[in-house]
Amino acid sequence: MKVTRIQIIARGLGNCCPNCGQRTLFRVGTWFETNQECPSCGLKIERDEGFFLGSLSLNYGVTLVGFLTPVALLAYNEIIGTTLAIILAGVGSIVFPALFYRSSRSWWLMNYYFFFPHHLPANQRAVQDHEDDNT
Ligand SMILES: [Zn+2]
Repeated sequence: MKVTRIQIIARGLGNCCPNCGQRTLFRVGTWFETNQECPSCGLKIERDEGFFLGSLSLNYGVTLVGFLTPVALLAYNEIIGTTLAIILAGVGSIVFPALFYRSSRSWWLMNYYFFFPHHLPANQRAVQDHEDDNT
C-alpha cells in the first residue's frame, strides 16, 4: 500500500485528505462546507448520503466526554460554582461542537479509511481476472 494506516491517522488528525495529504477537505473561505471531491487528487469526499452522520455522533461524544463531563466534575468538586457550570455547559454545548466540526468530519473519514485503506485511490491496483473489485 502506498498510503499506510499511520499516514491515514496523521492526515485525519491534521484535517487533510487521506489520499494525498493536502488540506483540501473543506472549501476555502468557509467553515462548514466540505468539498465534494479533493481538488488535488480527486478523492470523493462527500460519499453516500448519510456517510457523515457518524461524524455527528463523534462530535457529540467528544463534546460530552471532552467538555461537558469536565465542567460537571469541576462543579461537583466545587471548584467552580453551579451557576458558572450551567453557563459554561450551555454556551459550550453550542460553541464546542461548532469548533470541533471540521475535526469530527476529518476523523470520521480517517476512521473509514483506517479500516478500509484499500478503498483509497492511491492504494488501489488493477483487478486481476480471478478477483472481484470488492476485495
Ligand atoms: Zn486529495
